[in-house]
Amino acid sequence: MSGSIAIVGRPNVGKSALFNRIVGRRIAIVHDEPGVTRDRISAEAEWRGHSFTLVDTGGIGLLRREKSEDVITRAALDQAALALESAQVIIMVTNAQEGLAPLDEEVALRLRQSGKPVLVAANKVDHPGLEAAVGEFAELGFERVFPVSAIHGTGVKELMDAAVALLPQAQKAAEPVSAAASGAAPLKLAIVGRPNVGKSSLVNALTRSSRVIVSPIPGTTRDSVDVPFEVEADGVRQSYVLIDTAGIRKTRQVSTDIEFYSVKRAEESITRCDIAVLVLDAEAGILEQDKKIAARIVEAGKACVVVVNKWDLVADAVRRAQVEEMARRKDKDRPRQKRLITLSEFGEWVQELLFFLDYAPVIFTSARSGFHLDRLLEAVRYVADQLRQQIPTSLLNRVLREALERRPAVGEDGRFLKFFYATQVGQTPPTFLLFFNRDETLAEPCRKFLQREMRRAFGYEGCPIHLAARARPKPVAPVRTGDRPQPRKQKSGPRRRGPL
Ligand code: GDP
Repeated sequence: MSGSIAIVGRPNVGKSALFNRIVGRRIAIVHDEPGVTRDRISAEAEWRGHSFTLVDTGGIGLLRREKSEDVITRAALDQAALALESAQVIIMVTNAQEGLAPLDEEVALRLRQSGKPVLVAANKVDHPGLEAAVGEFAELGFERVFPVSAIHGTGVKELMDAAVALLPQAQKAAEPVSAAASGAAPLKLAIVGRPNVGKSSLVNALTRSSRVIVSPIPGTTRDSVDVPFEVEADGVRQSYVLIDTAGIRKTRQVSTDIEFYSVKRAEESITRCDIAVLVLDAEAGILEQDKKIAARIVEAGKACVVVVNKWDLVADAVRRAQVEEMARRKDKDRPRQKRLITLSEFGEWVQELLFFLDYAPVIFTSARSGFHLDRLLEAVRYVADQLRQQIPTSLLNRVLREALERRPAVGEDGRFLKFFYATQVGQTPPTFLLFFNRDETLAEPCRKFLQREMRRAFGYEGCPIHLAARARPKPVAPVRTGDRPQPRKQKSGPRRRGPL
């Protein structure tokens, strides 16, 4: 196992730019909308032969539109907590152009208390004249301050040499790190959707893309159903298995059977996959059958990316309508601004119709022109990363506790539940066990509320979040080795410990 380095700091100091600079590639954000919640992003990275996990805590706790000072402070502190739990070495990023800010000091205080090695990266030193300004960051109380410019790449080498030297048993990487090499099993993708939406075309377009390496496995024949493939970007490889590709090959079906087979086929693939890529046809819109397949994905509790394919046709139609409109208005006043259907409006419409699948990002593609195929790969990678995250227990409990302080938990019986603690019991899909004072299922609005709060804190874009409620286990009498098992006490004594 290689170690992990976390990047923390208040908003806008350039954490993501530094992250991208170190990892050596751009991490695309799936949405077009500015200010979307971004969760912790981590990448297997390598620096001068040392491999490690780089964690960008950038988006933790930042709510979609709410950016009050309060929220920003809490977010920065949450990031610090997360970094402390998950990393051996911490890079605290500050903004040399703005100087020391009170929030820097607060973050530093938390980091100092931990005793973990912290390096300060005074970022945005974009020209030598700014280096003098770096001195004041020594006040943060850490031994070393590095002037860097994430944009220009200056100073990053010195910073990273120092960072990897601090990793425990710094490991030499033999070759570019791949997801397989880091021990993670490849995630299984299923491309599902009704006939003619463009599934085969997408698979073909993707497998021809220069970023996708389809592994030739022995015995691969035309009947092969599962196709392992890797996506490579700047030396980092991510492995996946595309399942059931035979099923999406065009078959001549009797028309009455088409619906039955396509839904049935989709169902089987959905059961086997980790991430379902639901393909829709932009021109045809959303039909009943699309909704049925979407519902299966939700019922099966699978991560999902929604793809609106054939976007080229819609774009064409919009352009044609625009030209006609202009022609009609030719003799009249100057044409007013014509309202165009934008990607985000269309996306909202898709999310409205597939409201029960609200956790999935929506990507617009054209298998024909190749439009946004890279986005699709990024979205899959993004969701895969979200799916792999293990939330530190203390952070999980803090988020839930804060949420339940604002709005206490309610059971299906309509009575309040007292929360004790929670723990993550599964990653694919993310599953959490919450312990309360009584054994009672959570009321639906309460479950929804908690899921929303968890998304705010941890992102989990594209992933369902499963919450199970249980009564807190009764304390068990300790059993010493060699002793015969003691019968369990029937009644537990009064517990001194209050709710966590
Ligand atoms: P499948 O049944 O879902 O696998 O759909 P196909 O991949 O066979 O595609 C059905 C039809 O839509 C074919 O005629 C494709 O050429 C066409 N098609 C697929 N993707 C696109 C696209 O992005 N744009 C356009 N204009 N046509 C597409």
